[in-house]
Amino acid sequence: MERVLITGAAGFLGSHLCERFIKEGFRVEAMDNLITGDIKNLDSLMGNPNFTFHNHDVTEYIDIEGDLDHILHFASPASPIDYLKIPIQTLKVGSLGIHNCLGLAKDKGARVTIASTSEIYGDPEVHPQHEEYFGHVNTIGPRGVYDEAKRFQESITMAYHRYHGVETRIVRIFNTYGPRMRLNDGRVLPAFIGQALRGEDLTIFGTGTQTRSFCYVDDLVEGIFRLHFSDETRPVNIGNPDEITIGDFAEEIIALTGTDQKVVYRDLPENDPKQRQPDITRARTVLDWEPKINRAEGLKRTYAYFKTLTAEELHKSEHKDFAVFHKD
Ligand code: UDP
Repeated sequence: MERVLITGAAGFLGSHLCERFIKEGFRVEAMDNLITGDIKNLDSLMGNPNFTFHNHDVTEYIDIEGDLDHILHFASPASPIDYLKIPIQTLKVGSLGIHNCLGLAKDKGARVTIASTSEIYGDPEVHPQHEEYFGHVNTIGPRGVYDEAKRFQESITMAYHRYHGVETRIVRIFNTYGPRMRLNDGRVLPAFIGQALRGEDLTIFGTGTQTRSFCYVDDLVEGIFRLHFSDETRPVNIGNPDEITIGDFAEEIIALTGTDQKVVYRDLPENDPKQRQPDITRARTVLDWEPKINRAEGLKRTYAYFKTLTAEELHKSEHKDFAVFHKD
């Protein structure tokens, strides 16, 4: 039985990856320090004999006894509010954390996939974003802690690949959504759905003309799985090219939730990308992958999940962290 270490296992993407690897017959070593992850995300796996949870911070030395075949490094704060609140941890997990993972991979002869991001393109001047675009990032802006950590992560990964011959894969993940997103992580989808469910107005940052392209989590996991087991060592964009303005997205959420909330406008956070859409030619060509679940279906499934949350959880999630972005 092959053995995989998944870091960030209790997070939104990490927990879905753990489920997928268990389903495919792997032994899963799940690691998380629960700084932004939630152990409840792993409920369905606890007690499974092929699943072990390690409460550990990957920026500290990682000690795994025995053979290890695969590593997926998915530990990181990933929403703007999180990485603005914990900027140093964000930088550390993308530098010290990946260094530990790559050292472990070299030692064990394991293959590593690292979670990179569309944020490495910054506020892009090329649209849609293809993998050859070097990006447009403000190193010292508020988002720099995340963007630059992820850029460094790609560089050190390629260095281990070229210098030590470690087998590496790099997935550049675009906006993804689905069950187990944290309602208060500040990202637009949980923010809007939480607001609608609490009967609050939906807060659009800026004028709502900025665009994003949202991928349903099952599609993303399929893309990551295919990439990990492919021979592709260049970065690969995984995302859904179906682009929408944030203003139109707010209207879709209002229609989905059947509420009659209004939209209200707040200042646009600094360096908020104006447009984002993945060019997925490489994923189509090399992995024979493309998203299958459209936004209407994905939103329906995601909303069904959020409706299962208790009133207490819903209340706790109030979007009070605006102060991180806005002085008003
Ligand atoms: N956004 C918004 N209202 C919110 C939260 C986010 O209008 O309550 C906007 C945000 O400014 C950005 C887009 O929605 O332009 C997507 O934000 P998110 O934090 O989900 O992800 P990003 O792609 O910016 O990392």
